[in-house]
Amino acid sequence: MCSYHYSKNDSRCSVFGKEVFSDPTILEILEKYKQIWSLGYAIALIQWDMETNMPPDGIEERGAANAQLTVLQHRLLLSPELKTLVQKAKEKDNLTEQEKGIVRVLSREIEREEKLPERLIAELKEVTTKAHEAWLISRERKEAEPFLGYLDRIVALEREMAEKIGYKEHPYDALMDYFEEGFTTKKAKEMFDTIIPALKQSLEYVLSNETFPRCHYLESYRYDVERAKKVNEKILEMMDFPKKRGRLDVSAHPFTINIGHRDVRITTRYEGFDIRRTILSTIHEFGHALYELQVDDALSMTPIGTGVSMGVHESQSRFWENIIGRSRAFSKVIGAMLREEFPELRAYDDEEIYRYVNLVRPSFIRVDADELTYNFHIALRFEIERQLIAGEIKTSDVPELWNNMMEDLLGIKPRNYAEGFLQDIHWSQGSIGYFPSYSLGTVLAAQIKAKMESEVGSLSEIIEKKELGVIRGWLKEKIHKYGATYSPMELLQRSLGESLNPEYYVKYIREKYSK
Ligand code: MG
Repeated sequence: MCSYHYSKNDSRCSVFGKEVFSDPTILEILEKYKQIWSLGYAIALIQWDMETNMPPDGIEERGAANAQLTVLQHRLLLSPELKTLVQKAKEKDNLTEQEKGIVRVLSREIEREEKLPERLIAELKEVTTKAHEAWLISRERKEAEPFLGYLDRIVALEREMAEKIGYKEHPYDALMDYFEEGFTTKKAKEMFDTIIPALKQSLEYVLSNETFPRCHYLESYRYDVERAKKVNEKILEMMDFPKKRGRLDVSAHPFTINIGHRDVRITTRYEGFDIRRTILSTIHEFGHALYELQVDDALSMTPIGTGVSMGVHESQSRFWENIIGRSRAFSKVIGAMLREEFPELRAYDDEEIYRYVNLVRPSFIRVDADELTYNFHIALRFEIERQLIAGEIKTSDVPELWNNMMEDLLGIKPRNYAEGFLQDIHWSQGSIGYFPSYSLGTVLAAQIKAKMESEVGSLSEIIEKKELGVIRGWLKEKIHKYGATYSPMELLQRSLGESLNPEYYVKYIREKYSK
């Protein structure tokens, strides 16, 4: 009998309760895919090591090894044998949902790779390598050049890429689809048009009524790193992060990496001040990790054995960071742990901790933004990217446009370009179309909260009773276990009973911030 647990000898064993892969063509595809998966496994492991442990001088060889492994992976993906098999599977009409998912994911990857000429990939690689250097220099000097010149070339290449990939309505759709299957400029615009006016109202309310503070003493409290590590460990333990299948390490920028289905690693950073930053980022990465850890065992080592998209992934990290981590109920958990580990903070009660983790302060830097102002930063980037890719504005317009939009949205104008368009690494890497996934994630997290509460009751009560297993279980059943079986939009429809609906987020924000 198939059990809930993974059995090494029968990869078809599953919590889905039936054999998910039995079609002979699919089984052949999976056999071939194991090589691609293994290369991905090795790439993930060396990337994790690069960010956590590698001595600095190892970077050159690491870069070379990484590039070679990626080339091999690319070749295997485009091998005629695999292509023929995927084509054959595509024509079958008796596949299981999971088998269809495999065909969908592989066809998407193969088609996309085939549409992009090697010359374009190589050119983009070359430009982004130099652009990264130029970006570092520009940011340091707070000057638009030399980066702006590279941005111009990157945008030209990305526009060419959009043309090669193809799109129905807007060239930006082609770029966004890579990160978020099926998400379009139209849908993103509708989303921002719904949430931004509501966020503006709530922001004005908070700033004039001071329902949440702008600053807090604990921001400048300098903490002992070893003791902060203990707090993070306790929080992960409380959340049931499985130590046998995961690790918490330190890196310059926190991230989650799925090396294998049973080896999911997260990182955090300790800056020595403003302790909520390390706590909330650990909770954020836990959300990403839980998604990977709760994908059905039977999907491991297959193309669908991972989170389905950037936006759905971000909905999971934001759900844990914002909906759980920044809730009044969870502030009691954080408060108790802080007071235990740092007796000098005894004077701060739970309500004070709640206010501290929910500061609202318009700021220039996206990664420092609070829950309420975060999406303004994304809306700005979406507008600029969309217009750049459509050819409606020139890259030389970006520095000033950015600053003016910032003033319009948040009422503050960057004093220099480092506080403006030079702050993110994304464009220097050629990642255009990625930012909207962040907002999609926050919006989805609120939609998930609403659906979850309609089925399991009030989240604050569940948190108060420390029954986080109920939340993890719900997420597993509704979202995680499927991996990439369904496209993001289909997953939403099936699991939440409706498509993307930003009204839940508006309601959540109003209830929390303007009441
Ligand atoms: Mg994230």
